[in-house]
Amino acid sequence: ASIYDLIQSACEKNDSKLIASFEMHKKAFTFGEMHLEAGKIAAGLVNLGIAPGDRVAVWGPNQPEWLVMKWACARAGFEMVNINPLYTSRELEYALEKVDAKMLVCPKTIGPLNYHAKVQELIPNLAEQDRFSLKVPSVPTLKKIVYYSCPEAEAGTFQWSELEQAGSDKDLKTVNEIIVDPHSIANIQFTSGTTGMPKAASLSHFNLINNAISLTASLNALLPSVHENSSFLNCLPLYHVFSFVGGSLIGAHNAVPNIYPAPGFNSAAAIKACADKKCTYLIGTPTMFTDIVNDPIRLDHDISSLDFAIVGGAPATPALVRKANTELGLQMAVGYGMTENSCATFLTYPGSSEDVTCNSVGFPIPGVEAKVIDENEKTLERGQIGELVTKGFVLFMGYVKDEEKTKESYTKDGYWKTGDLAVVREDGTLQISGRSKDMLIRGGENIQPTEIENFITTHEKVLDCYVIGVPSSRLGEEVAAYIQLKDDSVTKEDIIAFCKDGLARYKLPKYIKFTEEFPKTVTGKIQKYLLRDQAMEDFP
Ligand code: ATP
Ligand code: MG
Repeated sequence: ASIYDLIQSACEKNDSKLIASFEMHKKAFTFGEMHLEAGKIAAGLVNLGIAPGDRVAVWGPNQPEWLVMKWACARAGFEMVNINPLYTSRELEYALEKVDAKMLVCPKTIGPLNYHAKVQELIPNLAEQDRFSLKVPSVPTLKKIVYYSCPEAEAGTFQWSELEQAGSDKDLKTVNEIIVDPHSIANIQFTSGTTGMPKAASLSHFNLINNAISLTASLNALLPSVHENSSFLNCLPLYHVFSFVGGSLIGAHNAVPNIYPAPGFNSAAAIKACADKKCTYLIGTPTMFTDIVNDPIRLDHDISSLDFAIVGGAPATPALVRKANTELGLQMAVGYGMTENSCATFLTYPGSSEDVTCNSVGFPIPGVEAKVIDENEKTLERGQIGELVTKGFVLFMGYVKDEEKTKESYTKDGYWKTGDLAVVREDGTLQISGRSKDMLIRGGENIQPTEIENFITTHEKVLDCYVIGVPSSRLGEEVAAYIQLKDDSVTKEDIIAFCKDGLARYKLPKYIKFTEEFPKTVTGKIQKYLLRDQAMEDFP
């Protein structure tokens, strides 16, 4: 059994239903077409010497070939490695070496992104090499490169069209005879790199399928969100679990199409795709929702088909949840999870009180157990803050080539340590207080940056705000707030005066800086470790 069974069983019911549409590429697939294409590509990979258990790295933004590769690998038991589309050459090298990749598949160029140039940095003599057996000193396992979005042959590489045609009937027969172990790796997924260097997490077919099934159960039990005419607007990068599991896999499981607006996120493309395809369900990070809500072109398009959304991947402020609900006319649920837990582990649901949706991530999805513990791994009572730990089918298989780190990430009783601070509220829902690494301690008082961020973003002139601790010789740390304003009609003094009305004295920012942009990952997550570096210069 593999995640590919979802495609196969959907095909048995009705293979002419749509599975995916890439709006910018004007390329859509029915389940039947995807099955055919994945078969061709899997056979082509067999022909080029890829066998079950081999690692194929795919590096790029949302394009049809990305998704086809995913299903082709799943079908034949090849381990697909998802590489962040924005990686530099140096990061690519780190990732490929880390996982012992045998093949790299990527666009040659797409828009302003020139993957070929980055590959050439890694392999300067690519053009002179035997494309059947590359020699890459820093990544000795890497033997072949396939380019898509590459109309003309590029020396040293294979073209996508060649891969499509390479597989013989015999190769396809080989693919069809492969039996995939559900506990084998489907996916090596790099974490977002929000807190530092990304970690390579191994996820099995079993992990992924369980997450998709549990999430569907949670959604269906609470709202008939997935129905005959549903379609999902998937704005997230496919390389991330939230997009593939929370969108594509749930879609495949329910025979509902995913609409991918554009290779990278832009709110205008998302809004247009939503109006064109009458999407009913929207998934994205808080940054994406902020952009969609604030984009004026929204008013020129009918997106009233939307009835449901999941925001997740980073904290959503209550102000954002309220705004999305009223202005987009939908019911927003909040999802919480992480790469190492195969996607989501907690979910609120539409129809919950505003208090629950704005201040919690709801309850664990079926099959997930969770508790909040203290430093001695003692379970805490409701209302007490500690580290969230989780257990269940969705727990990953470990970090690649890093047994030590894998072991350290578990409690003595086998729960996985999320690194996030949380509180179980009186009503049993879970509130995430932030990452334990981001908590700041000022003069002995613990301060949660999210509390200050949530308050400052209620100011009508504030678009976005992030709070960090800045070293202080007297108090240990001081509060610093980076704020993006809607216009420049407010001063730092106004912000402080506003904060005095809602925050205890010791939580007031000592430093404020107005800024136009923040260091963020490709999914729009704030990289506070970079903001802290910046603060050393801004507030010496
Ligand atoms: P890295 O581990 O490389 O630093 P990362 O933790 O951001 O990156 P992901 O696995 O993509 O990588 O993200 C999981 C983290 O995102 C969680 O541990 C949590 O801190 C945060 N997160 C996800 N959903 C939510 C949410 N709804 N509310 C608050 N935080 C969230
Ligand atoms: Mg993490």
